[in-house]
Amino acid sequence: MIIDFHTHTFPDALAPRAVAGMAAAADMMPYSDGAAGGLLSSMARAGVDAAVLAPVVTKPSQTGDINRTAEAVNAAFRGRGLLSLGGIHPDTEDPERVLEDLAARGFPGVKLHPLFQGVPIDDERNIRLVARAAALDLIVLIHAGFDPNYPGLDYAAPRRLLRLLERVPHRKIILAHMAGFADWGEARALWGAPCYIDTAVALGPWRRRNGELSPATPLDSAGFVEAVRRHGVDRVLFGSDSPWSDQSEALSAVRASGLTDSELSAVLGGNGARLLGWEG
Ligand SMILES: [Zn+2]
Repeated sequence: MIIDFHTHTFPDALAPRAVAGMAAAADMMPYSDGAAGGLLSSMARAGVDAAVLAPVVTKPSQTGDINRTAEAVNAAFRGRGLLSLGGIHPDTEDPERVLEDLAARGFPGVKLHPLFQGVPIDDERNIRLVARAAALDLIVLIHAGFDPNYPGLDYAAPRRLLRLLERVPHRKIILAHMAGFADWGEARALWGAPCYIDTAVALGPWRRRNGELSPATPLDSAGFVEAVRRHGVDRVLFGSDSPWSDQSEALSAVRASGLTDSELSAVLGGNGARLLGWEG
């Protein structure tokens, strides 16, 4: 089973504008229309069986709407390949109650994006939120390192993530982008930390809107394999960040990296299935 643990979609009515706006702001080329239908056809082409959606709440007032949309996606696609995390913002009103509600409604976890949300990951608000999620056994997927929308802003810098992990030990934290996106010098300190990491846009380049390769440097195959083994192959999850990379290209890059067959089956689906409780 192939699980893509890091994807994004938007409601059908908003997708064209949302994807165009984000593509322009970050100068990144989108590889699908950003709607659920576009992701499903990308999955069919790539041979991806299931995708985890990671909604980002950029304004606290959007929390309720985003979670109603996410719940509708989960109801519509249960057993048909799409599973959405919930959305939360550190300034959401009564965030602890919202987390309890998400857990009660069967959401597997939440996504945090310190740069889009404007709150450093080691800020007390985020620490409290992650601690509550940990107590509820929720997955917490966190954007890690550089973000092309906010070059120079360090809110998800590896050293801040290390501080979070020290304050809140929680094995269901996932640091996206191999814990650094492009900050490999610092990210290295997180490889081996007691959390998951995902492979989104960390291996194989992403493209500018005009099709040129971006100057941010992903890991090469040898660096990727080294990172997976240093971190622990049982805690690495395949992710594409679709629509911001192509799922087929992302899969091919991982398959061609030099991991063994058993390492590949863990990274591409086994670990994700275990984390979601889909095993056995
Ligand atoms: Zn993402």
